[in-house]
Amino acid sequence: MAEKNLPCSEEKLQQIAKEYGTPFHIYDEKAIRENAKKFIKAFDWVPGGFKNYFAVKALPNPHIMKILKDEGMGADCSSLPELVLAKTVGITDEDIMFTSNDTPAHEYREAIKMGAIVNLDDISHINFIEKYAEIPELVCFRYNPGNKKKGNKLIGNPEDAKYGFTYEDLLEGYRILKEKGVKRFGLHTMVASNELNPEYFVETAKIVFDIAVEVKEKFDINFEFVNLGGGIGIPYKPEDSPVDLNFVSQGIKSLYEETIVPAGLAGMRIVMECGRMVTGPYGYLVTTVLHRKETYKKFVGLDATMANLMRPALYGAYHHITVLGKAAAEKEICDVTGSLCENNDKFAVDREIPHAEPGDIVVIHDTGAHGHAMGFNYNAKLRSKELLLKPNGNIKLIRRAETIEDYFATLDFTTL
Ligand SMILES: *Cc1c(COP(=O)(O)O)cnc(C)c1O
Repeated sequence: MAEKNLPCSEEKLQQIAKEYGTPFHIYDEKAIRENAKKFIKAFDWVPGGFKNYFAVKALPNPHIMKILKDEGMGADCSSLPELVLAKTVGITDEDIMFTSNDTPAHEYREAIKMGAIVNLDDISHINFIEKYAEIPELVCFRYNPGNKKKGNKLIGNPEDAKYGFTYEDLLEGYRILKEKGVKRFGLHTMVASNELNPEYFVETAKIVFDIAVEVKEKFDINFEFVNLGGGIGIPYKPEDSPVDLNFVSQGIKSLYEETIVPAGLAGMRIVMECGRMVTGPYGYLVTTVLHRKETYKKFVGLDATMANLMRPALYGAYHHITVLGKAAAEKEICDVTGSLCENNDKFAVDREIPHAEPGDIVVIHDTGAHGHAMGFNYNAKLRSKELLLKPNGNIKLIRRAETIEDYFATLDFTTL
């Protein structure tokens, strides 16, 4: 099987592991920057400019967000702490998209105060923000196309999704906004997750463009932008191919010229809010083998757990595994496990990898999105550090590991 790229040589990674101690996630700044440039360039035809609002939940580290800001990205936030993170790195005003759901009033108030673009999830939220916050000058709605769009494996059918407006509510919502004097409008949808078929994103654009044209005709509303959401997948498996961004972009461009321009909406911006494809492939969880055991099966036990990377246990996600320095070793089929008292704490089940011994360094690939971010403290496992591999080869610690004191920080021992 083809091997996947590492961020640097195996020797260097061994050295970093020795110096910093495992486990840690390490992110490749150079690759993140190159990918961001490529992504934005693919959409350089968009009148008024294309912007990706990085879905902060994928990798909520300010050092990474700053790099992405540098490359021209905004932030897609869904909670107050994410809004605060964005502000901390200097992402402000309409460079922030607030795409939340089941949102508390104070978070809407804060987002509106910050001048973020507020993306409402339901028609009832118009009254909600009017009552508890205010209706901002620019409002965006999240559309759920229901049975007009097939879902994908990871996200399910749109009709079952908790997100977004129905078609009828969407039209009614824009009518109400117009009546209330709102002057600036956006339209959003997000129906895929980790989707590798490029056609899917062109189809999504068609659905959204058609609605934009319909709302323009019915209510004379000129959308400033449409937000095509995130969901661009990444090649987790060595045999997967990345989404061809130029194919997606050119497909959307043709639709834009066929529908948006003739409808008098020329100049409407296109934005996205991708997270996974921005950082996912450029993060690696570096761990050490602690134990081997051979019982009814073979098990290779690591010093990382699903608390460091939940995706395999949560939805059987594939993450490629490289054992450093063992390219020539004999291969065996084993389960690669963590130490939680949870039998599904496994990074791989029945996976063929080179024979690994205690002390070997194991690299788990594609952890740059929803890796550290999904971390948790079950079994009192402490979350790991995060390192940044700088373009000049230097290493920067961008988050220290948690300590026992951090774990106890919310407890009050004085009232025992
Ligand atoms: C998670 C999420 C994204 C990002 O999805 P990716 O699959 O990481 O691109 C974008 N928008 C919303 C509303 C989301 O919930």
